Amino acid sequence: MDAACERGLTVRYGRVLERLEAACAAAGRRGEEVALVAVSKLHPPAAVAVLQAAGQRDFGENYMQEALRKRRELAALPRARDAMGESVEIRWHFLGHLQSRKAAQAVEGFALLHSLDSLRLADALERRLALTGRRQPVLIQVNLAEESRKSGVTTGDLPLLADYVVENCPHLDLRGLMCLPPVFDASWAARPHFARLHSLRERLRARLLLPLPELSMGMSGDFEAAVAEGATLVRIGTDIFGQRPLAQSVHV
Ligand SMILES: *Cc1c(COP(=O)(O)O)cnc(C)c1O
Repeated sequence: MDAACERGLTVRYGRVLERLEAACAAAGRRGEEVALVAVSKLHPPAAVAVLQAAGQRDFGENYMQEALRKRRELAALPRARDAMGESVEIRWHFLGHLQSRKAAQAVEGFALLHSLDSLRLADALERRLALTGRRQPVLIQVNLAEESRKSGVTTGDLPLLADYVVENCPHLDLRGLMCLPPVFDASWAARPHFARLHSLRERLRARLLLPLPELSMGMSGDFEAAVAEGATLVRIGTDIFGQRPLAQSVHV
């Protein structure tokens, strides 16, 4: 990255942090209650390194091959240090659709999987994790508007999947819920969807007697509304990194 690109990236990142802080204040919430996941899909490892040096800790990826390659390339770069000279350990989040067949083994390097959406995937992950004994933190992705092109369980199937995970998957640590509202409900129009995910989480909490602390909701266009409805993880790509290159133009 050249110096101008780097500066642009750092400036946009700073603005997003300010907006997030303002959204928390407006909602009467403390800044620490909401983690920013910088969604770096289709952006180069050098851009991740710039934000890492600026102190950003959580990064999200959607495509497994791309994510694994980016992490390898990043490991080969000089280690980013923040303003205090400390090296910042990245927490990787996986946000994309996972196919049970091949992906179960790959997910182990991720701090949080946001997109658990089927019994089959839960089974595949459980089998794999049982071999290593590791517990994988996961969120269930809910397809609130039942859009056919989106992954996620329907609200009707959510209790089934949640019960299944709790009863049959001791190596899955269910932490909460994630959603992607319909794109036409941009900005504050998305707020009712976020409110709905929040209330689904409350119902599930009572049903499972689990804390389910995480609500992963809110992206570039609508994260202020998500924070107002209790988001604990906002996933922001475009407002930080700029427009993504088309998926076809890079290997994913
Ligand atoms: C791409 C993506 C984001 C980030 O979207 P922006 O609009 O670029 O902020 C967030 N969550 C998921 C699941 C995504 O796929």
